[in-house]
Amino acid sequence: RIVYVNGAYKRYAEAAIHAEDRGFQFADAVYEVIEVLDGRLVDATRHLARLARSLGELAIARPMSDRALLNIIGEVLHRNRVRNGIVYIQVTRGAGPRNFSFPGPEIFPTLIVLARAQRRGWADELAEQGITIKTMPDNRWGRSDIKTVMLLPAVLAKDAARRDGANEAWFVDSSGAITEGASSNAWIVTGEGVLVTRQLDTRILPGITRATVNDIAASERLKVEERAFTLSEALKAREAFVTSATNTVMPVVAIDGKAIGEGRPGPVARRLRSRFHQLAEISIV
Ligand code: PMP
Repeated sequence: RIVYVNGAYKRYAEAAIHAEDRGFQFADAVYEVIEVLDGRLVDATRHLARLARSLGELAIARPMSDRALLNIIGEVLHRNRVRNGIVYIQVTRGAGPRNFSFPGPEIFPTLIVLARAQRRGWADELAEQGITIKTMPDNRWGRSDIKTVMLLPAVLAKDAARRDGANEAWFVDSSGAITEGASSNAWIVTGEGVLVTRQLDTRILPGITRATVNDIAASERLKVEERAFTLSEALKAREAFVTSATNTVMPVVAIDGKAIGEGRPGPVARRLRSRFHQLAEISIV
Protein backbone atom coordinates (compact mmCIF):
# COMPACT_ATOMS: atom_id res chain seq x y z
CA ARG A 1 0.00 0.00 0.00
CA ILE A 2 1.18 3.49 -0.85
CA VAL A 3 0.31 6.69 1.01
CA TYR A 4 1.00 10.27 -0.06
CA VAL A 5 2.65 12.24 2.77
CA ASN A 6 3.93 15.78 2.25
CA GLY A 7 5.17 15.51 -1.31
CA ALA A 8 6.23 11.86 -1.38
CA TYR A 9 4.59 8.50 -2.06
CA LYS A 10 5.54 6.26 0.86
CA ARG A 11 5.10 2.60 1.61
CA TYR A 12 2.36 2.13 4.23
CA ALA A 13 4.77 1.14 7.04
CA GLU A 14 6.94 4.21 6.38
CA ALA A 15 4.12 6.71 5.89
CA ALA A 16 4.87 8.70 9.06
CA ILE A 17 4.40 12.30 10.12
CA HIS A 18 6.45 14.35 12.58
CA ALA A 19 6.07 13.74 16.36
CA GLU A 20 5.27 17.44 16.79
CA ASP A 21 2.65 17.60 14.09
CA ARG A 22 -0.21 19.82 15.25
CA GLY A 23 -2.75 17.30 14.03
CA PHE A 24 -1.40 14.92 16.65
CA GLN A 25 -0.83 17.52 19.38
CA PHE A 26 -4.00 19.59 19.08
CA ALA A 27 -6.25 17.90 16.52
CA ASP A 28 -5.44 21.12 14.62
CA ALA A 29 -6.48 19.55 11.34
CA VAL A 30 -9.33 18.90 8.93
CA TYR A 31 -10.16 16.03 6.61
CA GLU A 32 -12.37 14.79 3.80
CA VAL A 33 -13.59 11.35 2.75
CA ILE A 34 -14.54 10.81 -0.90
CA GLU A 35 -16.16 7.68 -2.28
CA VAL A 36 -14.43 5.89 -5.18
CA LEU A 37 -16.74 4.07 -7.58
CA ASP A 38 -15.29 2.12 -10.52
CA GLY A 39 -12.12 4.22 -10.35
CA ARG A 40 -14.02 7.52 -10.35
CA LEU A 41 -14.66 10.08 -7.61
CA VAL A 42 -18.17 10.72 -6.33
CA ASP A 43 -19.08 14.38 -5.70
CA ALA A 44 -15.42 15.49 -5.72
CA THR A 45 -16.27 19.12 -6.52
CA ARG A 46 -18.44 19.43 -3.42
CA HIS A 47 -15.95 17.60 -1.20
CA LEU A 48 -13.05 19.82 -2.31
CA ALA A 49 -15.17 22.93 -1.81
CA ARG A 50 -15.98 21.80 1.73
CA LEU A 51 -12.28 21.06 2.38
CA ALA A 52 -11.44 24.62 1.29
CA ARG A 53 -14.17 25.95 3.59
CA SER A 54 -12.98 23.90 6.60
CA LEU A 55 -9.42 25.14 6.03
CA GLY A 56 -10.63 28.72 5.66
CA GLU A 57 -12.69 28.61 8.88
CA LEU A 58 -9.57 27.54 10.80
CA ALA A 59 -7.15 29.80 8.85
CA ILE A 60 -5.04 26.80 7.78
CA ALA A 61 -3.28 27.49 4.46
CA ARG A 62 -4.53 25.52 1.46
CA PRO A 63 -1.65 23.14 0.70
CA MET A 64 -2.21 23.29 -3.07
CA SER A 65 -4.79 23.88 -5.79
CA ASP A 66 -7.74 21.50 -6.27
CA ARG A 67 -6.23 20.47 -9.62
CA ALA A 68 -2.92 19.48 -7.97
CA LEU A 69 -4.77 17.66 -5.17
CA LEU A 70 -6.89 15.75 -7.72
CA ASN A 71 -3.68 14.69 -9.49
CA ILE A 72 -2.34 13.27 -6.21
CA ILE A 73 -5.65 11.52 -5.51
CA GLY A 74 -5.53 9.97 -8.98
CA GLU A 75 -1.94 8.85 -8.42
CA VAL A 76 -2.76 7.31 -5.02
CA LEU A 77 -5.72 5.41 -6.52
CA HIS A 78 -3.57 4.23 -9.40
CA ARG A 79 -0.58 3.16 -7.27
CA ASN A 80 -2.88 1.23 -4.94
CA ARG A 81 -5.02 -0.14 -7.77
CA VAL A 82 -8.13 1.02 -5.90
CA ARG A 83 -11.24 0.82 -8.09
CA ASN A 84 -13.84 0.89 -5.32
CA GLY A 85 -13.46 2.26 -1.82
CA ILE A 86 -12.63 5.61 -0.30
CA VAL A 87 -10.03 8.34 -0.47
CA TYR A 88 -9.04 10.00 2.80
CA ILE A 89 -7.48 13.47 2.72
CA GLN A 90 -6.10 15.07 5.88
CA VAL A 91 -4.57 18.52 6.25
CA THR A 92 -3.00 19.72 9.50
CA ARG A 93 -1.60 23.13 10.36
CA GLY A 94 1.86 21.53 10.19
CA ALA A 95 4.62 20.47 12.58
CA GLY A 96 6.55 22.68 14.96
CA PRO A 97 7.57 23.07 18.62
CA ARG A 98 4.44 22.59 20.72
CA ASN A 99 2.79 25.99 21.10
CA PHE A 100 -0.91 26.84 21.15
CA SER A 101 -0.35 29.91 18.97
CA PHE A 102 -0.41 29.47 15.21
CA PRO A 103 3.06 28.92 13.76
CA GLY A 104 4.54 31.44 11.32
CA PRO A 105 4.41 31.18 7.53
CA GLU A 106 7.63 29.13 7.48
CA ILE A 107 5.58 26.14 8.71
CA PHE A 108 3.71 24.43 5.88
CA PRO A 109 0.55 22.36 6.31
CA THR A 110 0.88 18.58 6.45
CA LEU A 111 -1.06 16.77 3.72
CA ILE A 112 -1.90 13.07 3.69
CA VAL A 113 -3.83 11.26 0.95
CA LEU A 114 -4.60 7.59 1.33
CA ALA A 115 -6.94 5.20 -0.44
CA ARG A 116 -8.68 2.14 0.93
CA ALA A 117 -10.23 -0.51 -1.27
CA GLN A 118 -13.68 -1.78 -0.37
CA ARG A 119 -15.57 -4.51 -2.12
CA ARG A 120 -18.14 -2.98 -4.44
CA GLY A 121 -21.60 -3.60 -3.08
CA TRP A 122 -20.68 -4.10 0.57
CA ALA A 123 -22.93 -1.20 1.61
CA ASP A 124 -25.76 -2.51 -0.61
CA GLU A 125 -25.82 -5.68 1.47
CA LEU A 126 -26.00 -3.68 4.70
CA ALA A 127 -28.75 -1.52 3.19
CA GLU A 128 -30.87 -4.64 2.56
CA GLN A 129 -30.96 -5.16 6.34
CA GLY A 130 -30.88 -1.53 7.40
CA ILE A 131 -28.98 -0.28 10.43
CA THR A 132 -29.84 0.45 14.05
CA ILE A 133 -29.23 3.65 16.02
CA LYS A 134 -28.46 4.49 19.63
CA THR A 135 -29.06 8.07 20.74
CA MET A 136 -26.87 10.00 23.17
CA PRO A 137 -26.31 13.60 24.27
CA ASP A 138 -24.40 15.73 21.78
CA ASN A 139 -21.26 16.57 23.77
CA ARG A 140 -19.25 17.94 20.83
CA TRP A 141 -17.92 21.48 20.49
CA GLY A 142 -20.06 24.23 18.96
CA ARG A 143 -18.57 24.13 15.45
CA SER A 144 -19.59 20.73 14.14
CA ASP A 145 -19.98 22.40 10.72
CA ILE A 146 -16.18 22.23 10.32
CA LYS A 147 -14.86 18.80 9.36
CA THR A 148 -12.05 18.58 11.93
CA VAL A 149 -10.20 15.43 12.99
CA MET A 150 -11.25 16.21 16.59
CA LEU A 151 -13.40 13.08 16.57
CA LEU A 152 -13.23 11.79 20.15
CA PRO A 153 -16.96 12.34 20.89
CA ALA A 154 -17.79 10.40 17.70
CA VAL A 155 -15.32 7.62 18.61
CA LEU A 156 -16.86 7.26 22.08
CA ALA A 157 -20.43 7.47 20.74
CA LYS A 158 -19.78 4.82 18.08
CA ASP A 159 -18.24 2.50 20.63
CA ALA A 160 -21.16 2.97 23.04
CA ALA A 161 -23.51 2.22 20.13
CA ARG A 162 -21.53 -0.90 19.22
CA ARG A 163 -21.57 -2.14 22.83
CA ASP A 164 -25.36 -1.75 22.68
CA GLY A 165 -25.55 -3.71 19.42
CA ALA A 166 -26.28 -0.59 17.33
CA ASN A 167 -24.48 0.43 14.13
CA GLU A 168 -24.51 4.22 14.49
CA ALA A 169 -25.07 6.88 17.14
CA TRP A 170 -27.37 9.88 16.79
CA PHE A 171 -26.55 12.94 18.85
CA VAL A 172 -29.35 14.80 20.68
CA ASP A 173 -28.94 18.47 21.60
CA SER A 174 -30.06 20.08 24.89
CA SER A 175 -33.49 20.93 23.42
CA GLY A 176 -34.15 17.25 22.64
CA ALA A 177 -33.62 17.63 18.90
CA ILE A 178 -31.49 15.21 16.89
CA THR A 179 -28.45 16.97 15.48
CA GLU A 180 -26.82 14.28 13.30
CA GLY A 181 -25.12 10.90 13.39
CA ALA A 182 -21.60 10.34 14.72
CA SER A 183 -20.46 10.05 11.08
CA SER A 184 -23.62 10.72 9.09
CA ASN A 185 -26.54 13.13 8.66
CA ALA A 186 -29.89 12.06 10.11
CA TRP A 187 -33.19 12.01 8.19
CA ILE A 188 -36.76 10.90 8.83
CA VAL A 189 -39.81 10.50 6.59
CA THR A 190 -43.03 11.66 8.27
CA GLY A 191 -46.43 9.97 8.07
CA GLU A 192 -47.27 12.51 5.31
CA GLY A 193 -44.24 11.40 3.31
CA VAL A 194 -42.23 14.57 3.97
CA LEU A 195 -38.46 14.20 4.31
CA VAL A 196 -37.06 16.00 7.34
CA THR A 197 -33.40 16.72 8.08
CA ARG A 198 -31.90 19.34 10.37
CA GLN A 199 -31.23 22.76 8.86
CA LEU A 200 -27.59 23.63 8.22
CA ASP A 201 -26.25 25.37 11.30
CA THR A 202 -23.09 25.19 13.40
CA ARG A 203 -24.27 22.00 15.14
CA ILE A 204 -24.04 19.71 12.08
CA LEU A 205 -21.66 18.96 9.26
CA PRO A 206 -22.98 20.16 5.90
CA GLY A 207 -22.95 16.63 4.49
CA ILE A 208 -22.12 16.29 0.81
CA THR A 209 -24.37 13.23 0.54
CA ARG A 210 -27.09 15.26 2.30
CA ALA A 211 -26.77 17.96 -0.38
CA THR A 212 -26.95 15.46 -3.24
CA VAL A 213 -29.91 13.66 -1.64
CA ASN A 214 -31.64 17.07 -1.45
CA ASP A 215 -31.09 17.40 -5.23
CA ILE A 216 -32.44 13.89 -5.83
CA ALA A 217 -35.50 14.56 -3.66
CA ALA A 218 -36.20 17.71 -5.69
CA SER A 219 -35.90 15.79 -8.97
CA GLU A 220 -38.29 13.16 -7.59
CA ARG A 221 -40.71 15.88 -6.41
CA LEU A 222 -40.37 14.73 -2.82
CA LYS A 223 -40.98 17.41 -0.23
CA VAL A 224 -38.03 18.18 2.08
CA GLU A 225 -38.24 20.22 5.27
CA GLU A 226 -34.91 21.38 6.67
CA ARG A 227 -35.68 21.76 10.37
CA ALA A 228 -34.89 20.26 13.73
CA PHE A 229 -36.79 17.09 14.69
CA THR A 230 -36.97 15.41 18.08
CA LEU A 231 -36.33 11.83 19.11
CA SER A 232 -40.05 11.31 19.77
CA GLU A 233 -40.88 12.54 16.24
CA ALA A 234 -38.25 10.14 14.86
CA LEU A 235 -39.74 7.22 16.80
CA LYS A 236 -43.14 7.94 15.19
CA ALA A 237 -41.67 8.39 11.69
CA ARG A 238 -42.62 6.18 8.76
CA GLU A 239 -38.96 5.79 7.82
CA ALA A 240 -35.54 6.97 8.90
CA PHE A 241 -32.17 6.91 7.19
CA VAL A 242 -28.68 8.35 7.35
CA THR A 243 -26.47 9.81 4.62
CA SER A 244 -22.69 9.76 4.34
CA ALA A 245 -20.09 9.43 1.59
CA THR A 246 -19.14 5.94 2.75
CA ASN A 247 -22.73 4.61 2.92
CA THR A 248 -24.62 6.98 0.59
CA VAL A 249 -28.25 6.47 1.76
CA MET A 250 -28.54 3.89 4.55
CA PRO A 251 -31.98 2.89 5.88
CA VAL A 252 -32.47 2.96 9.66
CA VAL A 253 -34.78 0.23 11.00
CA ALA A 254 -34.62 0.86 14.77
CA ILE A 255 -33.70 3.67 17.17
CA ASP A 256 -32.90 2.89 20.81
CA GLY A 257 -34.29 -0.61 20.31
CA LYS A 258 -37.66 0.62 18.93
CA ALA A 259 -38.66 -0.29 15.38
CA ILE A 260 -39.14 2.57 12.90
CA GLY A 261 -42.15 2.10 10.62
CA GLU A 262 -42.37 -1.56 9.69
CA GLY A 263 -38.89 -2.20 11.10
CA ARG A 264 -37.60 -2.77 7.56
CA PRO A 265 -35.85 -0.48 5.05
CA GLY A 266 -38.53 1.88 3.71
CA PRO A 267 -39.39 2.68 0.08
CA VAL A 268 -38.23 6.32 0.17
CA ALA A 269 -34.76 5.44 1.51
CA ARG A 270 -34.47 2.58 -0.96
CA ARG A 271 -35.50 4.80 -3.85
CA LEU A 272 -33.03 7.56 -2.91
CA ARG A 273 -30.30 4.96 -2.53
CA SER A 274 -30.97 3.44 -5.95
CA ARG A 275 -30.92 6.91 -7.59
CA PHE A 276 -27.87 8.22 -5.75
CA HIS A 277 -25.04 7.40 -8.15
CA GLN A 278 -27.18 8.39 -11.14
CA LEU A 279 -27.47 11.96 -9.85
CA ALA A 280 -24.18 12.43 -7.99
CA GLU A 281 -21.26 14.00 -9.83
CA ILE A 282 -18.97 11.18 -11.03
CA SER A 283 -15.55 12.39 -12.20
CA ILE A 284 -12.51 10.76 -13.72
CA VAL A 285 -9.15 11.35 -12.05
N1 PMP B 1 -21.87 14.26 9.88
C1 PMP B 1 -20.71 13.85 10.41
C2 PMP B 1 -20.40 14.20 11.84
C3 PMP B 1 -19.79 13.10 9.64
O1 PMP B 1 -18.63 12.70 10.17
C4 PMP B 1 -20.14 12.76 8.31
C5 PMP B 1 -19.24 11.91 7.46
N2 PMP B 1 -17.94 12.40 7.33
C6 PMP B 1 -21.35 13.22 7.79
C7 PMP B 1 -22.20 13.98 8.62
C8 PMP B 1 -21.76 12.94 6.37
O2 PMP B 1 -21.08 13.80 5.50
P1 PMP B 1 -20.78 13.37 3.99
O3 PMP B 1 -22.09 13.07 3.36
O4 PMP B 1 -20.12 14.55 3.41
O5 PMP B 1 -19.89 12.16 4.08
